[in-house]
Amino acid sequence: MSFWKKFEEFRRQVNNVESNIYSSKRDFMEVYEKNLKLEAEIEERTQELQIANQRLLTVQHIWQMMNSSEPLTNVLDSIASSLQGELGYLYSAIIQVKTDDDGEYIDIIADSSGDFVEKLSSIFSKSIYDSRIPYFHTPERDKAVEANRIYQSQNLDECLENMFPETDKNKRLKLIKTTNWKSYIVVPLTQNNEHWGSLIVFSSRPEMPDSEMTFLDLFSKQIELAITIANLFQTVKAQAITDSLTGLNNRRYFEEFLQKEYLRAQRQNQKFTIVGIDLDHLKQINDKYGHAFGDVAIRTVASALKSNARSIDVVARMGGEEFNILLPGVDSQGGMVAAERIRKAIESRKIDTIGNVTASIGVATFMEHSDNITDLLELTDQAMYLSKKNGRNRVTLASPAPTTESWQNIAVDTFVDIISKHRIPLDENMTTMLNKRLQELQENNDTLYSISDTLSEIYNPNHSEGLAKTKTMVASLLAKRFDLSKEDTDRLKIAVLLYDIGNLMLPKELLQKRLPLTDEEKNIIKTHPVIAAKEILQPISNVQDIIPIIEHHHENWDGSGYPGNVSGESIPLESQMVLIIDAYFALIQPRPYRKAMTKDSALEIIKEDSDKKWSKRLADEFITIMQTEQV
Ligand code: GH3
Ligand code: MG
Repeated sequence: MSFWKKFEEFRRQVNNVESNIYSSKRDFMEVYEKNLKLEAEIEERTQELQIANQRLLTVQHIWQMMNSSEPLTNVLDSIASSLQGELGYLYSAIIQVKTDDDGEYIDIIADSSGDFVEKLSSIFSKSIYDSRIPYFHTPERDKAVEANRIYQSQNLDECLENMFPETDKNKRLKLIKTTNWKSYIVVPLTQNNEHWGSLIVFSSRPEMPDSEMTFLDLFSKQIELAITIANLFQTVKAQAITDSLTGLNNRRYFEEFLQKEYLRAQRQNQKFTIVGIDLDHLKQINDKYGHAFGDVAIRTVASALKSNARSIDVVARMGGEEFNILLPGVDSQGGMVAAERIRKAIESRKIDTIGNVTASIGVATFMEHSDNITDLLELTDQAMYLSKKNGRNRVTLASPAPTTESWQNIAVDTFVDIISKHRIPLDENMTTMLNKRLQELQENNDTLYSISDTLSEIYNPNHSEGLAKTKTMVASLLAKRFDLSKEDTDRLKIAVLLYDIGNLMLPKELLQKRLPLTDEEKNIIKTHPVIAAKEILQPISNVQDIIPIIEHHHENWDGSGYPGNVSGESIPLESQMVLIIDAYFALIQPRPYRKAMTKDSALEIIKEDSDKKWSKRLADEFITIMQTEQV
């Protein structure tokens, strides 16, 4: 091979290598550039994914809130906060436009609070939560809201000036600058295809890309869903009929049932009775042992009520420590029996740590006490309060609306009730005789006293005819000296006729016993008549306010009496009067173990017992009456 040929060959080879290198280099550059592009794309996609992820998390958070049973405002607060926090807004709020006397204003239903609000408060020296923020209209925004479109504006100063009219422009600009606020976005919210309110966000970006707009649109749908669900939840809750603490029916159910029972009872001309129960001294239990034990007391009462009710009775917790039972088809007599059984059941339950609790009870019956349910509930309540007033742990029957009936009529009705309903054990002859007397009543007012006298004679053979009338006269004179009202005087007079009626319930052997009584027997004699009188009178509507007078007519001024060991002014004044009248007239009558005393020595004893059995004033007034009046 010639040199030139060789050289030619070499050059060709070098060229080949060169072109190979060049093409490899080109290939490499291409790959390199491709890689760079890919990396950038990956970076971009990653960022997009991150944002999408964040948005999904926000949505998930909202879902969790919606599924909890939080009240609507809590749910919305959390939504507003998550929107602000996770998507970097300065402030976000869910608002409604409302109207008052001064026009339209913005009601912030929920918001994100935070930094922006604090800066606003400090720069404007006012809080958005305490200010009435007027709502202003702009044509463009109004159009957007009407079309349910998202609206963005950079007109911040106008926005601020309209919302906080009296603020200084410099302060407004300062707020915009220090918070780096660039635009605000309004997203209309709808419920049932009607405008409901708006989501407002303050952004540090002047514009929003399409993706942000899409997101806000989706987000607003979530808010709308949250509102729908929360409203549904509230409706469902309002429709619930069970009290969660006790498992009893709640007030709503009771009221609905009462309405139905009222219509049924009216149609069938049937009675029903409401028993109202209020726990005694729950506040003390809460204070002393803590709220948890208060709850136990409430649950104990609830369980006592449940186990003492028939299946057709409706037992409800009306709220707090107040319960009602509705007894269909039951009249006041039956209602009183049920109420007393319930009272005893509550009293006898032992509660860990607390011991026993008691309740005060009121009873009222449809068609006996009232023909309408509002009044009936009111009367039940009043009777319950009377139970509280008279010492708690007791049952009181509702009194009918105040009548203009004379006290004599009330007394007569009471005797008729006692005798005709056999509330006291009487033999047949006696019943017939008394019934006859009762019929004479219209003609002769004194018959009333004579019935009282006759009943007294049954347990006290030494009782002399005419005593009831005399005692009633003395009672009137005493009442006058103490300036008692007409109502109180009437109550006192009725009490004077009835106070010892409980003696009729004492065992005959005891009353006729000649031998000295044992201590136990003495105790029976001492306390039983009072209890009995109370029990005889308890089912009689007209005399509910007489019962406490009778109950306490053996209490002494110095607290040594019975059954309550009450003393001084705490004893009802009428009870003190009954006591002194009873004592005096007992002294001037003979007893199996002593002769009758003279008026003077009886009054001497009355005087001696001043400050012991009765107050000095009562003794003085009584003595004056007996010495100066014709009695
Ligand atoms: P009274 O004998 O006069 O009825 O006295 P009281 O303390 O029971 O009545 P008051 O009306 O003064 O107070 C009722 C108390 O009951 C106050 C309230 O804190 C308490 N209470 C109400 N509902 C509940 C409850 O669900 N649980 C507990 N533990 N206490 C309750
Ligand atoms: Mg109470």
